[in-house]
Amino acid sequence: MELNADGQSVRLRPHHLLCTQGYSGTGYDDKFKAHMDEIVRRLRTEKRTPVALVFSTDELCGACPNRLGEDHCRTNEKVKAFDRKTAECFHLKEKTYIYQDVIRKIRQAATPEIMDYICGDCSWYPVSACKERVLGLSSSE
Ligand code: SF4
Repeated sequence: MELNADGQSVRLRPHHLLCTQGYSGTGYDDKFKAHMDEIVRRLRTEKRTPVALVFSTDELCGACPNRLGEDHCRTNEKVKAFDRKTAECFHLKEKTYIYQDVIRKIRQAATPEIMDYICGDCSWYPVSACKERVLGLSSSE
């Protein structure tokens, strides 16, 4: 697992604060899914997980077949836009947050329009439960 310099924080890019809420077991390949399962399990069961927000490739990118290098995703333009819009809509900075606290704030501020604005171009969006979960319309378990 890729940890931050303090040895504890999980590095996450802004839009992955949304993906980790919507994830329901589908992903790019088996390696990616196994890694995602582990990280999401931690984030959903621990009470206080420090996450270092990074505007770059992160912990989840580490096991992804689309990661071409540091800060380089196969769909870089698209994922950078997801990050930019997520940070803009929820006033996020490149610093350490407590995952469960920042998720609570995101859920309070999220609207259907904001979700469509951020995630509308994502191929997973129409087939996953991101919108329902972030808007609190269904459980994350
Ligand atoms: S598709 Fe790109 S942004 Fe998403 S996990 Fe893979 S490398 Fe990271």
